[in-house]
Amino acid sequence: MSGRPEALFPLFAALDSLPGIGPKTAKTLADSGVELPRDLLLSLPYAVVDRRRRTTIRGEDLPRILTVTVTVGAHRPPRNRSGAYRIHVTDAETEFQLVFFHARGDYLRRLLPEGTQRVVSGKVELFDGIAQMVHPDHAVPLEDAGDIPEIEPVYHLTAGITQKTMFKATRGVLDRLPEVAEWADPALVAREAWPAWAAALGLAHAPRGADDVGPHSAARTRLAYDELFAHQVTLALARARDRKARGIVTQGDGRLRDRVIAALPFALTGAQGRAVAEITGDMAAPQRMNRLLQGDVGAGKTAVAFLALLAAVEAGGQGVMMAPTEILARQHLEGLQPMAADAGVRLELLTGRDKGRDRDAKIADLAAGRIDILVGTHAVFQKDVDFHDLRLAIIDEQHRFGVSQRLELGAKGQAVDVLVMTATPIPRSLALAQYGDMDVSILDEKPPGRKPVRTALISTERMDEVIARLRAAIDEGRQCYWVCPLVEESERVDLASADERFKRLRAILGEGVVGLVHGQMPPSEKDAAMAAFQAGETKVLVATTVIEVGVNVPNASIMVIERAEIFGLAQLHQLRGRVGRGAAQSTCLLMYQPPLGETGRRRLEVLRETEDGFRIAQTDLEMRGAGDLIGTAQSGLPRFRVADLERQAGLMATAQQDARKLLADDPGLDGPRGQATRVLLWLTGQDRAIRLISVG
Ligand code: ADP
Ligand code: MG
Repeated sequence: MSGRPEALFPLFAALDSLPGIGPKTAKTLADSGVELPRDLLLSLPYAVVDRRRRTTIRGEDLPRILTVTVTVGAHRPPRNRSGAYRIHVTDAETEFQLVFFHARGDYLRRLLPEGTQRVVSGKVELFDGIAQMVHPDHAVPLEDAGDIPEIEPVYHLTAGITQKTMFKATRGVLDRLPEVAEWADPALVAREAWPAWAAALGLAHAPRGADDVGPHSAARTRLAYDELFAHQVTLALARARDRKARGIVTQGDGRLRDRVIAALPFALTGAQGRAVAEITGDMAAPQRMNRLLQGDVGAGKTAVAFLALLAAVEAGGQGVMMAPTEILARQHLEGLQPMAADAGVRLELLTGRDKGRDRDAKIADLAAGRIDILVGTHAVFQKDVDFHDLRLAIIDEQHRFGVSQRLELGAKGQAVDVLVMTATPIPRSLALAQYGDMDVSILDEKPPGRKPVRTALISTERMDEVIARLRAAIDEGRQCYWVCPLVEESERVDLASADERFKRLRAILGEGVVGLVHGQMPPSEKDAAMAAFQAGETKVLVATTVIEVGVNVPNASIMVIERAEIFGLAQLHQLRGRVGRGAAQSTCLLMYQPPLGETGRRRLEVLRETEDGFRIAQTDLEMRGAGDLIGTAQSGLPRFRVADLERQAGLMATAQQDARKLLADDPGLDGPRGQATRVLLWLTGQDRAIRLISVG
């Protein structure tokens, strides 16, 4: 793309070129992420204030914002410095006071000269029985009354910025909106009766009532669509680039897979079979694979992943599987080892802990093709790690990576097929936002015979009872996870709570029965604690949320989660997924610190009612909003300024279809709609997309 269209220059000018914005305000805005006039356009008002003129304040329910014409009466300056400056005023029917603190008398006498008429607007309240308006928002001569908007938009403010500044500056940008061509599908625009882009912005910034700032007004919906469409065009461009990149054709003959499937102690579920077929189908195709395997905890992703890796080995190549942590990488190794033995392939582990001669030997074996499948942490992507013939890279539990990181990975240009596995069930609109560039396989069917986990809510006040029951369960040979919460951001506080619980349980249950694992431990201690629990030496494992992802100890059938009310539902669901894997009836105790509010109780009850991760995620989204769902900053979920994924749920799917269709029809974005879409990408700040077009 040659560069930014000239028509857009005014929207990319310096902020202080706008009315009412000087260098200082511009800097304050820039620090809050509003760097250009364009950014102001997308900062839409979230509420309205009704400033329609009344004749009097008499008879109104106070406090409330009112706008009336008054005759200015006597000024009463304060008696001391901290006192209030009062101005008596009269509207058509009654008298009240305008009140100012720390104001200069000469200024007020100029603003509100005695004997003149003024239109004032602000919050009127009763104080000691006297109606008063403290610091009116507006006080203007009659001839300027038109400057007070009848329905005033209310913007989110950064410290140091006033509503007036926002109002004036946004009007300034609206005045310089360029003519743009329509990028949306004309049939869609007609069907939804959407205003054109510029008109929609005008309407969104000049709401005529509360409905106009809600998510369902035509103008807001249109602007939300534009934002999502731009995002999906970016993802679709990345997808098109990846599909154009020549992939390797990896077509195994099935001999290793057949052996492993025959040796498995279970039959694959229908969903697992379908996922394997989709993945190996992609691997055999000449395009590079970019696929997401989504499946709730316990859905059986490991077997699917291993069969895909075997397809790579059958074709004479290698595969790699990457986990986010050392513990998980080791777990994968252990989980895969029996299947690798059945298949007769060589499986090895590589993590940051491999050092010296052992590491050198592994790396040499890998480069010579003597290792078929490598499991590890991100250490497997270190510079000096070379594969003989890598065909498939599997990234497990990667919800910690964001969209942009994944796009970067793709940009490295290796033709390797990529499969991403995630156990985080997310509602469709979020999945499309985060993974819209990928093809998706879903394991929507659990292996048969799983016993539901019995889930109960218990107050921390009943801790002694819980521990007594735990002791009985341990005597029956059962094992238990005991999760302590991330009480605060601070690791120290977090750790203290786990440590304290560990000591108390050890004191009651006995030395050697209780283990402890947390994020701050040296890796070797962590491993030792996990290993002791896995081997059944310790019966209770006190942990911070480090056990959240992927840990597999089938004999553990009790999960206690303290302060469950401060966890996200999806996270609780993940944690609960750690039990219910063996033959025994499993239990999950959600302990809360009373009092538990109505909403808090309802959230936790969802977990009691269902083990369907998608339903839980949907409820979480409804109750918390998209921003919070996966823990904002680390979620990798793109932030939208206008769109509300929760309340405008259907728009994302439409935007994705439209984006893929547009690129299928016009891959270079050269046609009229393609050109218009380029403008949209500039307007929405999809710089990545712009780069993708220019290299394409
Ligand atoms: P995930 O990684 O999706 O959370 P796993 O792959 O760890 O799930 O599988 C969970 C458990 O279910 C493992 O013990 C695995 O052996 C078992 N399992 C996997 N597929 C099946 C199946 N089709 N039938 C019965 N058990 C299965
Ligand atoms: Mg797993």
